[in-house]
Amino acid sequence: MRAIDDSKLPYYVARGDELDVFTNAHERQIPVLLKGPTGCGKTRLVEHVAAKLEVPLYTVACHDDLTASDLIGRYLIKDGNTEWIDGPLTRAVRHGGICYLDEVVEARKDTIVVIHPLSDDRRQLFIERTGETIDAPPTFQLVISFNPGYQNTMKSLKPSTRQRFVALDFDWPPMEQESQIVAHESGVDADTAHHLVHLAHRIRPLKDEGLEEVPSTRTLVIAGRMIVAGMDRARAAEVAMGIPLTEDEAVLKTIRDLAHFEFNG
Ligand code: ADP
Repeated sequence: MRAIDDSKLPYYVARGDELDVFTNAHERQIPVLLKGPTGCGKTRLVEHVAAKLEVPLYTVACHDDLTASDLIGRYLIKDGNTEWIDGPLTRAVRHGGICYLDEVVEARKDTIVVIHPLSDDRRQLFIERTGETIDAPPTFQLVISFNPGYQNTMKSLKPSTRQRFVALDFDWPPMEQESQIVAHESGVDADTAHHLVHLAHRIRPLKDEGLEEVPSTRTLVIAGRMIVAGMDRARAAEVAMGIPLTEDEAVLKTIRDLAHFEFNG
């Protein structure tokens, strides 16, 4: 296999052995389940691995209106004729790519049913509308993510299906790594990145005090970008890591005070 220059891949800072687990699973044709809060780097990991393995990536952000047809495909009328158009899952199977179903449990139950035969030893996609059955090539891999913090849990995935996956459990990156990510992704200097991450560490425990969604790595990157654009650091933290996450005035005031203290002493 051709060696790939890692610096050309989507930037990803590993926090453990997730790259090995993921690529080994790909080689052994085992699907992967990524658990973790939103904005912690799951999508970036999948983008990195797909580029490293040189396989096409098909990402689907699942939502409660998503149907099996959205994944598999549908007939469309074109110039008076009906034409079958593959959905992203079918394309991934045909082209031997990675299909990443982000927040899969949000999707309707019929979509979950579709992925069962693809995630077990059959590795097959059955397209009811056309009567076609496609055998997935060895490079096809199903990757699903789910946020354990949200209500829906994994009820819709049968235990027998879950058992086919290898799973990676994500939390926020360790401080050093998160600072590195924030500096790289936003362009802020190392000191400011460190302050943003330190502030996040002070805000995240407020989860137990009424803050439903805590600041993710993504929100720190956004705060960093606002700072690079010239915004005051404490204010940038407030508009990116506070106001979007809560309507609770008392919690917001605490975040504002913590941000002020972090940057202005
Ligand atoms: P998720 O898919 O878990 O919701 P993302 O992968 O979209 O989260 O991450 C959000 C953003 O945070 C990314 O766009 C990237 O800027 C940054 N990020 C988070 N974790 C990492 C990481 N380990 N390496 C590089 N960037 C990261």
